[in-house]
Parts: sequence; structure tokens; C-alpha cells
Amino acid sequence: MAATDIVDRVLRPFPRASAAHTPTPLEPLPRLGAELGLELYVKRDDCTGLAFGGNKVRQLEFYLGAALAERADTILITSAVQSNFVRAAAAMARRFGMACHIQLEERVPDVGEVYRQNGNVLLDRLLGATLHGYPEGEDEAGADAAVMALAGELRSRGHRPYVIPLAAGHPPLGALGYVLAARELAGQLAAIEPLDEIVVASGSALTHTGLLYGLRALGLDIPVRGICVRRDAAAQAARVAKRVDDLGELTGRRVTVGEADIRMFDGTLAPGYGRLNDATTDAIARTARREGLFLDPVYTGKAMAGLIELARTGGLAGGRVLFWHTGGQPALFGYADQLTRI
Ligand SMILES: *Cc1c(COP(=O)(O)O)cnc(C)c1O
Repeated sequence: MAATDIVDRVLRPFPRASAAHTPTPLEPLPRLGAELGLELYVKRDDCTGLAFGGNKVRQLEFYLGAALAERADTILITSAVQSNFVRAAAAMARRFGMACHIQLEERVPDVGEVYRQNGNVLLDRLLGATLHGYPEGEDEAGADAAVMALAGELRSRGHRPYVIPLAAGHPPLGALGYVLAARELAGQLAAIEPLDEIVVASGSALTHTGLLYGLRALGLDIPVRGICVRRDAAAQAARVAKRVDDLGELTGRRVTVGEADIRMFDGTLAPGYGRLNDATTDAIARTARREGLFLDPVYTGKAMAGLIELARTGGLAGGRVLFWHTGGQPALFGYADQLTRI
């Protein structure tokens, strides 16, 4: 069986609500690359099209596919206040004729009015999503339980809610979008082979997991480096390992991913999720000034800061590196008053 058929076979049982503009471009970053001593490329998943794009559009195709199959009329989701996931979920809901309830968690301390009103929050409001608050930021089970309770209320009023859960206990449907993206990349690789390493932000880990699983299922052994944006390297590696297992269970096709194949870097995570540091601000400004390309403050800015740090310390697997841009630029406007040292 041809390798690409494996992806078809794995994904066949899962309904997909097609919305992403794909394939996304794969482009060189010659000026930034030269500065770092690399042959650097970018996979432009900030260009997935729907509602400012980003990685969540690929993930949501499978959640919305399931929701439509259940004839749901309302999408429910929980995440951080400046979450790209909830903004994209609200847009996907509208795109397929549904309402959306969003629960915004207090994950980031000491934020001001700009963070609470601008960026993704402004877009959530324009999309007409119903916003709810959640006072904790590190309580995934509690946040999910609150959303489930909200779903119960909607059900009792005659609605048909579909919940996109947060915690790692649920089937990783969103990772299927990145199994598909792995095949998409495989089709583009001829232009840049041999590729030494892929660098990608690793948060819920569904992007990292789907890519790793998809590439290995296709017989491609390119190292994938996850840059930690939420948890330290040990905790995130455990999460990726668990999600790869969960994905094997979901699809009925296990892919063996050894411990050494789960590559993490957490050197640019501090002081924590959604909080800027100098390396991240510098990476955002540098990428804009060298390449005319915008990164975001929570994910891709930290991921590029990590790539720069790894390049500087000889920590990359080689000189031909692909940076996977996962989007998130609307959050720049939610961080406008924190991006002052540029
Ligand atoms: C959510 C997000 C990520 C992290 O992706 P996960 O699949 O949650 O690991 C990276 N970049 C951006 C811009 C995001 O919104």
C-alpha cells in the first residue's frame, strides 16, 4: 500500500468539515536564516484562511465534522482569554450555521484592559459568541466540567450542544488535522530535501502529536522539535507520548514513537504561559524586520525564540530547518501594551 493511502485509511472513519485553505505555502526565510546560519523555511499555517487562520482551523475540521454528524446546533469550548482556538471555533461554528459558547479562563496573571478587550476577544464578540468566565487557569478538569454543565443547561432548553474538551483525557480529534498536514508536507518536501528538523510550538500538543504520528506513519523520520509554551519539557514530553497513544487508539492504528523521538525545548517558556520574555519580543521583532512575517506573543514568538536559542547553542539536528507557523497573529493586538520594548 502506498504510504499516503495509510493516511486516507486512518482518516476515513472521521467526518471532516472542510474549511482550511490548503495546501498552505512552504516558503524560504533567507534573511533570518542567514543571520542564524541556517537554511530556514516556514510552513505557513497562519494562512489556513478562515477568520485569520492558524493551526486550529485544521484541528476544528474534525471537531466540526463530528458536531455536524451529531446534528449539533451549538459549539462549546474553553480556553485562555486571548485564545486563538476559541476565536477559530466561533468562526467555524458560524461558517457551518451554529451558535458558539466560549468559556475564557484566567490563565495569565496581571493582565489589563487591552488583553481583555482587544485581539481575539474583539473577534469573539464580532462573531457573536456568548462569552463566559472561569476563574482558574490551570484546572483543565474543572474548566471542562464547567463547560459540560453549561452544555447540560443548553440541552435542557432544547439545544443540541457539542463540546470541544480541553483536558488530555478525551480523544484527540484535533490531531487528525495534523496527520493530514503531515501528508501535505510530505508532498511539498521534494523542494527542500533533506530536511533536518521541524520546529513547532507545543501547547495542548495536538499539533505536535498529529505531525509526529503522521510523519512516522508515512515512514518519514524527520525530527520534530516541540517548543514548550505551557508546561516544562518533561511534562510536555509525557503529554505528547500520551496523546500519540490516544491517537493510535482513536484511529485503530498504533504508531510507535520512542521516548528519544519526542524532542522538547523549554528554554524560552519562562515566566510561563501567555507571558512575554525578552527573547520572545526579540524574535517577533526580528522576524517582522528580516522577513515581513508576523509571529504571535503566546506561541509562535516563543517557538521562534526557541529556534533562535537552539541555533545559537548548536542544539538543532542540522542546518536545514522548517519552522511551522501555527498562526495566532490576532493576539498581537491583545498584547499591544506589553510589546513596548521593540
Ligand atoms: C493553540 C496554538 C498552538 C499550540 O497548538 P497545540 O495543538 O495546542 O499544541 C500554537 N500556535 C498557535 C498560534 C496556537 O493558537
